[in-house]
Amino acid sequence: MSHKRQFGKRSKSEIAKLIFWLVAILTLEVSVGREIAAGPPKPTDIQTILTQDYSQYNERWFKNRLPTDTVIQYYSMPDFDIGQTNEDDGHYHIFVNSYYNRDKHSAEFTLFHEMCHVEVNLAGEELETHGSKWQGCMLRLANAGAFHDVW
Ligand SMILES: [Zn+2]
Repeated sequence: MSHKRQFGKRSKSEIAKLIFWLVAILTLEVSVGREIAAGPPKPTDIQTILTQDYSQYNERWFKNRLPTDTVIQYYSMPDFDIGQTNEDDGHYHIFVNSYYNRDKHSAEFTLFHEMCHVEVNLAGEELETHGSKWQGCMLRLANAGAFHDVW
């Protein structure tokens, strides 16, 4: 066995080790990357979740007193409020600002906030007010445990 041949053999096994580790690291990176990509809900998912939440919250926490045709929109509006509710001829449109409510839980908390505006408005109060009726709605929800997962 010449010195040259031994060097060549060692080189091959080193290259094999290098390739093994490169493949291992790349495989790990790809799987971690996939997990990160699948992790937090995408805006389109949160839009769907909020629409489902509205009817579930309405049933569970508002005794289905809120209109069923309310439109929920999760939308990025950097110069706008965290949330906004508009009313047009008895039909409500709730905007949850994805610019400020980046995650599902803050979006859901804002949805509760806006649903209280709808409840208060149905009781004859101004839509935008955070007066005693709106405060009462939020306190009632808090005491009932509605915010357990969102605050
Ligand atoms: Zn408000």
